[in-house]
Amino acid sequence: MAPSSSDAPVRILLCNDDGIRAAGLQSLAAALDGLGDLVVVAPESEQSAVGHAITTRDPVRAHAVEFSVPSGSIPAYAVTGTPADCVKLACHELLDARPTLVVSGINHGPNTAVNVLYSGTVSAATEASILGMDAVAVSLCDWSATDFEVAGRWARRVAKTVLRSGLPQGTLLNVNVPARPADEIQGLAVTRQARSRWEEGFEERTDPADRSYYWLAGTFVDLDEGQETDTRAIENGYVSVTPLQHDLTAHDALEDLRDWSWDSDE
Ligand code: MN
Repeated sequence: MAPSSSDAPVRILLCNDDGIRAAGLQSLAAALDGLGDLVVVAPESEQSAVGHAITTRDPVRAHAVEFSVPSGSIPAYAVTGTPADCVKLACHELLDARPTLVVSGINHGPNTAVNVLYSGTVSAATEASILGMDAVAVSLCDWSATDFEVAGRWARRVAKTVLRSGLPQGTLLNVNVPARPADEIQGLAVTRQARSRWEEGFEERTDPADRSYYWLAGTFVDLDEGQETDTRAIENGYVSVTPLQHDLTAHDALEDLRDWSWDSDE
C-alpha cells in the first residue's frame, strides 16, 4: 500500500491469537503507543494454532473491554472468534475507519518455518493483507516469556518503517524476535521461511473416567541448510523479517502441469 498522506490520521488495529488479556498484546499496545490511534480487537480466549479458521456456523459476539496504554485508555473489543474473525469483524463492523496498519502479536512463542501455517497470529495479519491493508505479525521466540519489552521495541521499529514505506500489494511481514537481551540482538535480517516439518506422534493417555484420549506430541525438524532462513536468523540472534503472501499457488509448477496429458484414462 502507498504510505498514507501526512494529514490522514494513522490508525493501527491490534490483534493476536493468545487472547485479549495476553501479556504480549498488552506489551505490543504499549510499544506502539503514540504511533497513531490504536484499537484492539482480539479473541476473548486463546486461539493459538487455529490457523486461518473463521467462524461460519456459530454466532460471533464482541464486547467492549477496558484496555490501557501508557498515554491512557484505548478502544478494545473481545471477540468470541478466531484471529481472522477479529480482523474481519473489526474492519467490517467495529471500526469507524479502515486501519492504516494491522499488527498482530506479540505472540508467545516463535512462528517460523512451517508453523506459519498453523499460526493464528500470522493469520490475523494475513486476513488484513487479503483485505488490502498493510500488516505485520510479531512473535517472541519464547513460549514462557513474561517480558516483551525488547520484542515491543522491534515491533515499534518495524511498524514505523512500514508506515513510512508501505508494503508491496499482497505482502505481509512475519517478524520473529529472538529471546535475548537487547544488546545481544545482532540486528535485523530479511529472511525466507525455512523448510521444515514436525515429526509427530500422539501419546495415548487415560482420563479420570478411564476413557482414552490422545495428546499431540512432536519434534520440530528443520530440513533447511540455507543461511537466509527465519530459523537460522533466530539462532544467530537476528530479528527475522519474512515477507509472506496469501497466494499459495505453486507458480513454478504451472508450466509443467499445463503440459501434462490430463485427458487420458490410461
Ligand atoms: Mn499464540
